[in-house]
Amino acid sequence: MIEQALKMLSEGQIIGMPTESVYGLAADATNDTAVARIYAVKKRPSINPLIIHVDSIEMARQWGVFTELAEMLAKEFWYKTPSSLTLIVKRNNAALSHLVTAGLDTVAIRMPMHAIALDLINKFGKPLSAPSANKSNSISPTSAEAVAIELGELIPLIIDGGPCRVGVESTILDVSENDPILLRPGGTTLEAIEKVLGITVKTYTENTPTSNTKSFKAPGMMKRHYAPSIPLRLNAKMALPGEAYLTFGTENQRQNETLNLSESGDLVEATANLFRMIRLLDCSSYNGIAVAPIPNFGLGLAINDRLSRASAE
Ligand code: AMP
Ligand code: MG
Repeated sequence: MIEQALKMLSEGQIIGMPTESVYGLAADATNDTAVARIYAVKKRPSINPLIIHVDSIEMARQWGVFTELAEMLAKEFWYKTPSSLTLIVKRNNAALSHLVTAGLDTVAIRMPMHAIALDLINKFGKPLSAPSANKSNSISPTSAEAVAIELGELIPLIIDGGPCRVGVESTILDVSENDPILLRPGGTTLEAIEKVLGITVKTYTENTPTSNTKSFKAPGMMKRHYAPSIPLRLNAKMALPGEAYLTFGTENQRQNETLNLSESGDLVEATANLFRMIRLLDCSSYNGIAVAPIPNFGLGLAINDRLSRASAE
């Protein structure tokens, strides 16, 4: 399977790749045609840059400028247990497709914590650009079956690496300028980043001043994103007639609970279940999904971010 994948990637084809966060749609990040295929298959606006995936800090340094701060974060979060952190750094290699970075002078880099992805990138010897393997704006796939349902007819190969351990996209931290800025909450908690850095990290808003002349506007930051086809209602104490009720912990459990993200109230488990359960409810006969309140700390920040985008008009 890996040999076949390597051949396809070197021919400029795009394939489904498992990672610890969500399944990715992978292409050779140095091949403009292959990268263009990603945008086409996802129907993703080409002004929205992609994340490149590397197998090590060593490979990362060949494609982006790793300051002391970036090195420290990569060492801490790329090699230790479940964590998904993307770092935005200055690009430093002309061989990297400018389509990947959408014309910006920065590049988003991460090392997936998944044996199959790492083996593939290592053998390929170059970074793979890989956004989530779904159509733009829909729910990210956390299993090979979900990729097959979304894009099966459009891509030649999906590597099945089992269900994603983390289940939500990576945290994106911009370290290309002096002050780190959180662009997207995700698989690595803000608290953990702040602990390592020993500072409070600012979160990006449209008013965040930046010396980068090009704006950051991106799908992960778009108001409506990650959306099911039926309406989502947040902070619901109960379901209304016709709605499914997606709960968390025991507190909000009512007789009309449909699925529980984590009965024990574990945010790690809830994150891993989030997209799978929303997909399940989206495919059933309900006319909406009511979601119980989710604590807004740790991984709850990423869960609430995705839920609020999924429920946006
Ligand atoms: P996805 O591939 O769907 O996980 O989305 C990747 C996210 O990374 C998008 O929100 C992009 O805007 C963001 N991103 C990628 N490259 C950059 C960059 N150079 N600067 C800022 N954001 C980026
Ligand atoms: Mg995505």
